[in-house]
Amino acid sequence: MIRNIIFDWSGTLVNDLPAVWNATNYVFEQAGVNTMDLEQFRKEFFLPFEDFYDIHTPGVSIEQLDKWYHEHFQKVIHSVEELPYARDFLKFCRNQEILTFLLSTIHPEHFRIQSEANRFHEYLDHPYVRILNKKEKILELIDHHELNPRETLFIGDMVHDIETARQGKVHSCAVLTGYNQRAQLQEAEPDLIVEHLWELQKILQKYELDLIQSWTK
Ligand SMILES: [Mg+2]
Repeated sequence: MIRNIIFDWSGTLVNDLPAVWNATNYVFEQAGVNTMDLEQFRKEFFLPFEDFYDIHTPGVSIEQLDKWYHEHFQKVIHSVEELPYARDFLKFCRNQEILTFLLSTIHPEHFRIQSEANRFHEYLDHPYVRILNKKEKILELIDHHELNPRETLFIGDMVHDIETARQGKVHSCAVLTGYNQRAQLQEAEPDLIVEHLWELQKILQKYELDLIQSWTK
């Protein structure tokens, strides 16, 4: 049975794709490199973002990139919206007494502003933000909270999320509400791919939180 859920933030609980794409292009402009259209950005953006910027803006320090990104993101942060079904899914977790975690690269200040608006932090028992490399953090998280990996599900919209789940030996569910598209996520071989959180909620309800049973039927 699933007793713990680890959430990604961007593309899983909120739609911040336009804001992140805009801020990234602003960084590219400051660094004097070509910007990307949205389709190209969705194809090419990956985490950890240090590795992404290493390819596109080599030689620029992470501090400088961060400064540019932050100053532009502040201007577009109010375009960030909660994703459909996210709030219901978080409430469902509460009702089912599922322990909830957030494992996100999001800047703490951006998380504060966004969760002040949507109050999602009230549904997240243990938020971990500013995690630049989730694959490195997940084992520590599992260990610290003494989670049973078989009872733990990681939900995210990017290949890095699925790789993180594999690293932690927990179940993985990819959602198609975010950055990466189905073909990219399929290659990462998550246990499950759903269109959105409502589809996952229906599966969890039907099988009374027993995900493994849902795969064998
Ligand atoms: Mg994400």
